[in-house]
Amino acid sequence: MNKYLEYQNYLKEYPSKDGYFGEYGGRYLTPELNKAMDEVETAYRTICHSAQFINELRRIRKEFQGRPTPVYHCERLSRLLGGQTQIYLKREDLNHSGAHKLNHCMGEGLLAKYMGKKKIIAETGAGQHGVALATAAAYFGLECDIYMGEVDIAKQAPNVTRMKLLGANVVPVSKGLKTLKEAVDAAFEAYLNEYEDTIYCIGSVLGPHPFPMMVRDFQLCIGEEAREQFIGMTGLLPDAVVACVGGGSNSIGMFLPFVADPVEIYGVEPLGKGSGIGEHAASMAYGTKGRLHGFDSILLQNQKEGEPDPVYSVASGLDYPGVGPEHAFLHDKGRVNYITALDDEAMEAFFLLCRYEGIIPAIESAHALAGAIKLAREGKHASILVNLSGRGDKDIDYVVEHYGTGEEFLKNLETK
Ligand SMILES: *Cc1c(COP(=O)(O)O)cnc(C)c1O
Repeated sequence: MNKYLEYQNYLKEYPSKDGYFGEYGGRYLTPELNKAMDEVETAYRTICHSAQFINELRRIRKEFQGRPTPVYHCERLSRLLGGQTQIYLKREDLNHSGAHKLNHCMGEGLLAKYMGKKKIIAETGAGQHGVALATAAAYFGLECDIYMGEVDIAKQAPNVTRMKLLGANVVPVSKGLKTLKEAVDAAFEAYLNEYEDTIYCIGSVLGPHPFPMMVRDFQLCIGEEAREQFIGMTGLLPDAVVACVGGGSNSIGMFLPFVADPVEIYGVEPLGKGSGIGEHAASMAYGTKGRLHGFDSILLQNQKEGEPDPVYSVASGLDYPGVGPEHAFLHDKGRVNYITALDDEAMEAFFLLCRYEGIIPAIESAHALAGAIKLAREGKHASILVNLSGRGDKDIDYVVEHYGTGEEFLKNLETK
């Protein structure tokens, strides 16, 4: 069968009507929240097929976001690694606002507009999702409430400023540990009280159905563009595609357009400081099946209490104790390989990309590159296409404070 048709058939088959990818996904909520999600799902399933919606989203991507983002051949880096494997980057760091997150935020904002909603709300941890959603709200003229733990507000001052400049209302959450989990709870609570005028916009391919499907659909532009661009540049498909996996949105968008192709697919999870509990956020490597935030997936959890484990990564955008349900499904099917990168491996990749290609990546995206560098050193692939999910401007102060400007890392490299 034609590969494009096979890919389209996959999208039609998964998720099932009630939101399952195999045994993962679904929607486990209170009856009231269920009602709100039903409304979003019904609207999305109708609106997403309308020519008007499709054309408007296409125009936004081109004129506001700057899509398609380029594919770039890393010639110097490939040569440094021995030259057997050529590394290419899909440059989502050049997407407006600096990362792939705007792809689904503009889609969610447009949906809110078509549904006649006045406001979009969300939680944010490091602030990246909050900034992307505030950008969409400003574009569409929607009100925007971003729930954020007080601890995160103090830690992420530049992103708080960005959200405020963009006109969003940053709501401090002072319960519990005052971080992401409490922010999620507070945002859901607010949503219950105002869902008639509001949509809750989830920041990755997570949460109850229809969000894993909707966010995925909005991110597919990454892989669809990259596949066509790569074939245009080289006349071939890449041997492998690689992306980092936090919740899993940039990776699912990159992977699925290659799902029917003879291409190896690798998701890279953050192994942080090591494999001990609380030292990493490698859900696929160390997790088990469970339920969190209204859906089933593979999670890092305390088996006895059914509570999520504490997680850590040098990349704050990757430290979620689970993955999107479609990743759990692709993992069990054996279609995607999940590998890991330590903090130090990600930082080596970060500094290499700065010095050898003139690109400062987000530390999240440096995990994807670290995975590709490992594969390149094994030398089994002629070409690897990496999704560079975002740019590193947000990370430079942290990097310089904790790792300097990279001399240590580059010195070690010469002895490898
Ligand atoms: C948020 C973020 C990620 C992780 O989110 P996914 O849903 O796994 O894509 C990765 N890279 C960047 C730059 C991010 O901001």
